[in-house]
Amino acid sequence: MDIAQHIHELQKSLPKGVTLVAVSKFHPVEALQEAYDAGQRVFGESRAQELTAKQKVLPKDIEWHFIGSLQTNKVKDIAPFISLIHSVDSLRLLNEIEKQAAKNERIIKVLLEIHVAEEETKHGFSLTDCHKMIKQLPDLPHVKICGIMGMATFTDDNVQVQKEFHQLSELFKELKQTAFRDSKDFSILSMGMSHDYKLAIQEGSNMIRVGTYIFGNREY
Ligand SMILES: *Cc1c(COP(=O)(O)O)cnc(C)c1O
Repeated sequence: MDIAQHIHELQKSLPKGVTLVAVSKFHPVEALQEAYDAGQRVFGESRAQELTAKQKVLPKDIEWHFIGSLQTNKVKDIAPFISLIHSVDSLRLLNEIEKQAAKNERIIKVLLEIHVAEEETKHGFSLTDCHKMIKQLPDLPHVKICGIMGMATFTDDNVQVQKEFHQLSELFKELKQTAFRDSKDFSILSMGMSHDYKLAIQEGSNMIRVGTYIFGNREY
């Protein structure tokens, strides 16, 4: 099956209200163009340099999402055009996004990345640190916190995966009713990848990030 077919199949099968982010990291612009021609407009990348290079040559109505770990010194490169940063994992990064958004006279939308998986290597706030950080949030006029993002442990154990997605979902609901009660923007729960997006949707995800299923394996 080709890229266009995978996009069409996914789009057809997704419940209403679930946004598909096509994760195109490590794939050539030709592959992205193929997805674009199949109607896909939202793309996710995980490295600033690769993202800016692709953004320059691909159609201007693409909505670019940043999903990887973001170094503060790279924020300035993506600030002029980025639609959503999924991977905010420190107050320091938030402050830098505020600064660069202001410079570009933009408001940048972000998600807080939450760590629930068992792997040590995954980034993100712990549940405790997330609450702590939110309590001491400074005024950020050029940043909109639109929700949370998380990953489940990479395992065949569906019970475990479901449990972790459930944790994220509960946190999302809780924040929506408390700290972000007055925010219309706090509405995105980004969870689910190629191998676990169905479970994620069952647990309430409304934004999935799918790479391998659409584009095939990545070459590193
Ligand atoms: C690479 C990546 C994805 C996509 O993973 P697939 O298994 O290829 O669907 C989703 N989210 C994040 C944060 C990623 O880094």
